[in-house]
Amino acid sequence: MKILICLSCVPDTTSKINFTDDDSKFDKSGIQFIINPYDEFGLTKAMMLKETNGCEITAITVGDVSVEPILRKALAIGADKAVRINHDPKDSYSTAVEIASYIKNNSFDIIITGRESIDYNGCAVPGMISEILNLPFVNACINLEINDNSIKMIREIDGGKETIQAQMPIVVAGQKGLVEESDLRIPNMRGIMQARNKPLNIVEPINTTVFTQSIKFEKPKEKEECKLIDAGNITELINLLKNEAKVI
Ligand SMILES: Cc1cc2nc3c(=O)[nH]c(=O)nc-3n(C[C@H](O)[C@H](O)[C@H](O)COP(=O)(O)OP(=O)(O)OC[C@H]3O[C@@H](n4cnc5c(N)ncnc54)[C@H](O)[C@@H]3O)c2cc1C
Repeated sequence: MKILICLSCVPDTTSKINFTDDDSKFDKSGIQFIINPYDEFGLTKAMMLKETNGCEITAITVGDVSVEPILRKALAIGADKAVRINHDPKDSYSTAVEIASYIKNNSFDIIITGRESIDYNGCAVPGMISEILNLPFVNACINLEINDNSIKMIREIDGGKETIQAQMPIVVAGQKGLVEESDLRIPNMRGIMQARNKPLNIVEPINTTVFTQSIKFEKPKEKEECKLIDAGNITELINLLKNEAKVI
């Protein structure tokens, strides 16, 4: 069985976010990049499937050379191969087109992605991959089991859970629950040494057309200073709620 795990390279969750070029571009300077947390759940699940079902795992990222450390980390954790599509992703569609093209040329049984990237939060790439390739797609997956050629998944729905059965190949977008945070793997020295001999292939993009373009980014308003008023000073409370917070 062949599993493709799609890894998005995102700013560390503690990063201070800034923009350049008239607030039209994300300022990457001084930012530490990590594997998108939703993708890390998927990578760990793929590792578990490898241990129980003997799968081959390929990790793929669409990005320039700066994304290679996350692919090396995936190899050190246990992925068998890594692929970097040499394209600076500018929108969800172009990212999906590149990944779908790779899948077309290198068939996989399960394509695992995260539910969303934590930077641009598009929640679009896995659905687009499945549409381009005419494959079934299960989103928000919190459990996955394989039985011969069929796959049983549980996904979160509003106020509950749904159990789904499907045939492979399939696109599955995972989240926490697929594995628990305590299951996430940290590369050990042996893994890091082995990763040096594993292939990291660079594939040129097939099409760099983008349909959407960011014009401007805006940060959320800074939290205003907290105002304390005397208990019982109802007149001041109403005045502030009405005239400053403008909520009544
Ligand atoms: C309007 C817009 C403008 C952008 N502009 C820029 C820009 O100028 N420069 C820039 O560097 N980026 C830019 N990006 C981000 C970049 O295009 C993203 O990698 C891509 O859009 C996917 O982001 P998403 O939020 O749609 O992913 P989602 O659909 O939320 O991601 C879901 C899953 O898809 C997979 N996935 C997503 N992206 C990748 C990837 N690159 N490689 C492999 N798997 C992936 C992951 O498994 C991820 O968990 C932009 C994104 C948007 C929407």
